[in-house]
Amino acid sequence: MDSSAIAASRNILTRLHEVMASRSPAQVKLNTVVEVIGECLDSEVCSIYLLREGMLELFATRGLAQEAVHVTRMGIGEGLVGTIAQDSETLNLAEAAAHPDFSYRPETGEDKFHSFAGVPIVHRERVVGVLSVQHVDPRRYQEVEIETLQTVAMVLSELIASAGLIDEEDRGGPGSGQSGPEVLRGLTLVKGLAIGNAVYHQPRVTIEHVVAENTEAERQRVLLAFDRMREQIDKMANQAEFGVAGEHVEVIETYKMFAYDEGWARRINEAIDSGLTAEAAIERVQQHTRMRMRQIDDPLLADRMHDLEDLANRLLRIVSGQLGTAASKGLRSDTVLIARNLGPAELLEYDRRRLKGVILEEGSLTSHVVIVARAMGIPVLGRVRGLRGLVREGEELLLDTEQGTVTVRPIPAMIESFEARTARYRERQAAYAAMRDVEPVSKDGQRITVMINAGLREDIANLSLTGADGIGLFRTEFQFLVSATLPARERQTRLYREVLDAAGDKPVVFRTVDIGGDKSLPYLRQEDAELEENPALGWRALRLALEREGLLKVQARALLEAAAGRTLNVMFPMVSEAWEFDAAKALFDTQIDFLRRQKKPLPEKVRFGAMLEVPSLAEQLDLIAPNISFLSIGTNDLTQFLFAADRANPKLAERYDWLSTSILRFLRRAVNAVRDFPIDIAVCGEMGGRQLEAMALIGLGIRRLSITPASVGPIKQMVCTLDVSAIEKAMASWLAVPPPNMREALAQWAKAHGIALD
Ligand code: PEP
Ligand code: MG
Repeated sequence: MDSSAIAASRNILTRLHEVMASRSPAQVKLNTVVEVIGECLDSEVCSIYLLREGMLELFATRGLAQEAVHVTRMGIGEGLVGTIAQDSETLNLAEAAAHPDFSYRPETGEDKFHSFAGVPIVHRERVVGVLSVQHVDPRRYQEVEIETLQTVAMVLSELIASAGLIDEEDRGGPGSGQSGPEVLRGLTLVKGLAIGNAVYHQPRVTIEHVVAENTEAERQRVLLAFDRMREQIDKMANQAEFGVAGEHVEVIETYKMFAYDEGWARRINEAIDSGLTAEAAIERVQQHTRMRMRQIDDPLLADRMHDLEDLANRLLRIVSGQLGTAASKGLRSDTVLIARNLGPAELLEYDRRRLKGVILEEGSLTSHVVIVARAMGIPVLGRVRGLRGLVREGEELLLDTEQGTVTVRPIPAMIESFEARTARYRERQAAYAAMRDVEPVSKDGQRITVMINAGLREDIANLSLTGADGIGLFRTEFQFLVSATLPARERQTRLYREVLDAAGDKPVVFRTVDIGGDKSLPYLRQEDAELEENPALGWRALRLALEREGLLKVQARALLEAAAGRTLNVMFPMVSEAWEFDAAKALFDTQIDFLRRQKKPLPEKVRFGAMLEVPSLAEQLDLIAPNISFLSIGTNDLTQFLFAADRANPKLAERYDWLSTSILRFLRRAVNAVRDFPIDIAVCGEMGGRQLEAMALIGLGIRRLSITPASVGPIKQMVCTLDVSAIEKAMASWLAVPPPNMREALAQWAKAHGIALD
């Protein structure tokens, strides 16, 4: 904007401010507004159309026939005004009648005017009206005039909303051309169906005031907000190793670029100079950028736009002091939560009774937030991009992760059919629940042990609900993740004791803390964070625990005390070489000795096991096997290390199949390597919870699975229809001569052999 344009804008805003502050009725204010704008822009006509009962009604005009006010009405998409509302786009035409959408309204007497410019009036991301100017001479309005109109439209939206001139309930109204239902596709991360209102994890800021009282004060506010935002981004960049996604670093680099972009800051300041508040100025510049970007059809730019939107929203949140996430405000109704990405701890902050589903713009199958959601039974759809532009806060969503879709603004027929599907889904779930007491015995009499994975106190109930054989993986770090500080020993003991009490005779395998990677702890971060380029390959799990001995010692004592008089199963994560297991076990032995000397009650028996999730351990199984009682294969990490594919990177989420020859051959070698030792071998990664994958694992000789509770029914069902010796034979031949598509081969085999699959 040049200085004369800023001055013109400022002049209009000052006058509009006076109009808005006056005590006149809304209609009088609108009449004055069109006069002011017409005069300042030297325009013969200025008109305001507002949305009423789904139509755009002429509410005020200077220059058109006054008899047309409240008489002329246009449908959305009808004529130039309707087109602006439908597309949420500005039109600037030297010859209005030449436009294909032009629709002549004789009652207005507009035939003598040739040029036309109009901008949408947007309130809460919804088009609620149109502001237009017309001129006798055919001329295109200058860019600065259009910008002034757009600024005025923002002010009008405040006036209109505060005067109650638009129908807030008019949900079906237009907004960025998105009034009808829309089906968006994504990647299924947790299966299920959910109906609920859209809630953004980071809510969009509502702008209360548009016109500034004191421009200098607004400038200061933006300056401070920029400082704070830059600080935050720098901090994020320095802690990138604890990011939740593989793309994190790249994203932060882009953020930094925008955060320090002088052009952006300058444009915001110019908008303030024209008379807007800091919030309105940020939004105004954002609207402008959005419009520009829409004209450039480039997917790469669209991605960057998405980052800029994120950042602008962050700046708005800082400047307006609206900082909390949706969790801190509490959920008011059944909710489908939308986030770019979430950490497991952030997800756990939400009220579980109201949180029905989650949509992530990123996300991958084995990221921990997804594992937690799976344990909570909450469907998750991942990799849906650009949601901010497509879904408004509060809109009803139908989330169907069985089909990998989310329906926005569903029509009644869609809701009806969705409800029917939900009923059928519930029936299926009920059928699985009815299998609670069915033993997973194969057709040829092989008993498969089906256990569940757990980590929170609330998960314990799943043991009796599913009738599982025990807890094959208790992720102890979840308690650490949901605490604000390191949980004291007594608190750990209490949780472990409750778990053991609830499990009764059934075994529970406690895995010692597996933190680091995508499970970062803010309170540990302070002391020990160093920049890690590859956190999943970094200082995590047992590596961290063996160095931070205090942490493991406290946990050892808590576990030993909780299991007094019973059997304690302890498992170490991320064992890469046999000596790490020995060192961790030695630490437990010292604690056992200590308790014995203190004459404290001890567990009746302590069984130690290791996770096989780092491929290097596979080459030392003969060394470790004599010292362990059980081995549990963590296919989530194992796959990421075997394929060198970050498990949290959404770009790789679909690239490698668990049913690949590499994984299956690797697992078969591991099973064979420990076959002659008296140890239990289990699989506790997400792979084991899928029917086809579990069938393959059984074919490799695995007889113990520890899986997400929701999978117990489907897996039992599959096992009961399976002939184990037959699948073993088939697997042996496929691994000798792999079929072109292993998944396809297994699926066909299952069909031919009457295996009950979902
Ligand atoms: C695994 O890696 O497969 C596993 C079960 O552990 P986690 O998912 O907690 O890393
Ligand atoms: Mg793991």
